Amino acid sequence: MNDRYDVVVIGAGPAGLACALTLLDLGVRDVLVAEKYIFPRDKCCAGYITQKTVKVYRELGLDPADCGYTYIKDFRLFYGLSPRQYIDNRFLLTSREINRVALDDAFFRLAASRGIEIAENMPLTAHDPDSKTVTLGAGENRTAVRYGSLVFADGTNGFGSRYQKAKRRNLAMQLHFPSDRPDGIEIHFGITERGYCWVSTSGGITNVGITDEYRKSTDYRALFRKFLRDIGEDPDLSGLYSAFTPIGVRRPVLPGNIYFAGDAMGACDPFTLSGLRNGLECGRKAAESVAKNDPSILRRFAGKLRFKFFFMRLLMKVFYLKPAKLFVFNVGCRCLRGVVRFFFDRFLNKK
Ligand SMILES: Cc1cc2nc3c(=O)[nH]c(=O)nc-3n(C[C@H](O)[C@H](O)[C@H](O)COP(=O)(O)OP(=O)(O)OC[C@H]3O[C@@H](n4cnc5c(N)ncnc54)[C@H](O)[C@@H]3O)c2cc1C
Repeated sequence: MNDRYDVVVIGAGPAGLACALTLLDLGVRDVLVAEKYIFPRDKCCAGYITQKTVKVYRELGLDPADCGYTYIKDFRLFYGLSPRQYIDNRFLLTSREINRVALDDAFFRLAASRGIEIAENMPLTAHDPDSKTVTLGAGENRTAVRYGSLVFADGTNGFGSRYQKAKRRNLAMQLHFPSDRPDGIEIHFGITERGYCWVSTSGGITNVGITDEYRKSTDYRALFRKFLRDIGEDPDLSGLYSAFTPIGVRRPVLPGNIYFAGDAMGACDPFTLSGLRNGLECGRKAAESVAKNDPSILRRFAGKLRFKFFFMRLLMKVFYLKPAKLFVFNVGCRCLRGVVRFFFDRFLNKK
């Protein structure tokens, strides 16, 4: 590791690596990616990606199909525990292993194979914006590195979040376990107040998760355990992960050539929790901004996301009102089943 780089990227998740790969394509080679963990690292995620996400990964040189991503056809929407709608899923891909570890690891290997310097097990522990220096690692491993530009791609609650004012967050919890459930995806509304639960099974492995707009007063662990029991599962909870996803787009650029990408910038859809595609695109825009020394590129992207997420928040506000949910699931999914199916086919399956 050198003591100075043109660009230091914090975090080797999808946003950080998309940024580093794009910098390389734009001719910026003096780049260091500093990552807290050693790959393959665990990742709390439902593991769903859309065709649009697949397209962005392919543009960056990775085919999610090579990491076992495929369609699980049987997709059911539930209100509480009652199934309300069956959909022949052709819009949401998920990994055969039902987790994202392989996808992130393959992206990591791709970046490393293209010559990107990635320092694993090197968390950012201190930052001095005045001297443009970051300290990576702890104890004897501590190294000070100077940078020309710094990109925080270290997730919702990473070091970069101390420069942001964002308060609201979604909490998500997730657990993998072996099971004999049939292959399929279940999305349950009406269990949490402003979120949903998922149950995905493929090849004998089940991934169960819950999300909600985070409230301190709620005992999410108890809620999670109850949901598991309600669906007839009682697995060991020692592997239970929880993580936050951002609500709302944060400041994309700070003075002193400091940029934010992915969840660190709030590039995660607050309604669906879909953050991979936005994170990858955000990483690319951050790279363009850095390479062209033009912060407005990332600011414009953040503006577009703010606009899109404003509508998602509005939709969320209406959708999570009890009468609206009851209407959608009792009238919509019961009496207008064909209309709901048409909506999925027209706007999701054929996209
Ligand atoms: C439970 C859950 C389910 C989700 N399901 C989906 C889904 O199905 N589909 C979807 O598209 N999105 C989903 N998301 C959102 C998605 O996971 C994120 O939006 C996406 O991972 C954002 O990528 P990122 O690179 O910004 O951050 P991350 O993937 O979080 O990567 C950040 C990286 O930074 C590293 N890091 C953190 N701190 C430091 C530090 N101090 N120094 C160095 N490195 C550091 C971390 O180790 C990590 O590798 C889900 C999120 C959660 C929590």
